[in-house]
Amino acid sequence: MNLANFKNIANHFPKTERFPVLFVGHGSPANALEDNEFTRAWIAEGKKLPKPNAVLCISAHWFTDGTFVNGSAQPETIHDFYGFSPELYNIQYDCPGAPEVAKQVQKLVTKTKVQWDEDWGLDHGCWVVIKHLFPQADVPVFQMSLDATKPPQFHYDIAKQLSELRRRGVLIISSGNIVHNLGMMTFDEIAKPFDWAIEFDTITKKLIAAGDHQKLIDYKKLGHIANLSIPTPDHYWPLLYTLALQEKNERVDFFAEGLTFKSISMRSLIIH
Ligand code: ZN
Repeated sequence: MNLANFKNIANHFPKTERFPVLFVGHGSPANALEDNEFTRAWIAEGKKLPKPNAVLCISAHWFTDGTFVNGSAQPETIHDFYGFSPELYNIQYDCPGAPEVAKQVQKLVTKTKVQWDEDWGLDHGCWVVIKHLFPQADVPVFQMSLDATKPPQFHYDIAKQLSELRRRGVLIISSGNIVHNLGMMTFDEIAKPFDWAIEFDTITKKLIAAGDHQKLIDYKKLGHIANLSIPTPDHYWPLLYTLALQEKNERVDFFAEGLTFKSISMRSLIIH
């Protein structure tokens, strides 16, 4: 970070302890209302988190041409899914936004132009998870989008530029699914997962635990099991943002794991 940008953020936001970073495997939108092993794990993790000044969420479901940051003062709860129960469409997660922090993101990220947006709000990749982590909706939340046109290394590199936010009271949460093949999923939530899905999820776990980020960035080289697990990159790339923010002396804990619907990994992790 250059000195002018550092002074800018230092003037606006007092220094805090270093906040953890999370990647959450969000799975079905129905997790907003379900009581299952994953939502219980999210709730338990939420209770352990220090209360942040703001949450920055990078969700699989804001996949754009270019990188955007949402600066709404009152972000809309977006119901961006189809065919679920009416109760899900009635959920409103009425947290405030964090336009001042969003402006800081525009300054911190210099590897690309982060464009301003006030239309998006919070998509289900974000609120389905954050509703369990912060049920009071008393923490400001805002999103940054994933640039669909860029390679995996780009996402890892721009995420690194967000690192100072961790010492300014901002909790960075990425939300996707490490294995996410909707074309091959079944509607039986507890069906035995595909062998390739288990294998890819296991390999990914080992690489994350070993801190071997380059192999995770170059996931296409992992072959057939990677192609099946990541038919489109939107749900995998959020993981790269979390990994990029790992510092030398930090460890990884997996607070949820397992595969649902045969081809969706719910693996979730915290770096702290
Ligand atoms: Zn999703």
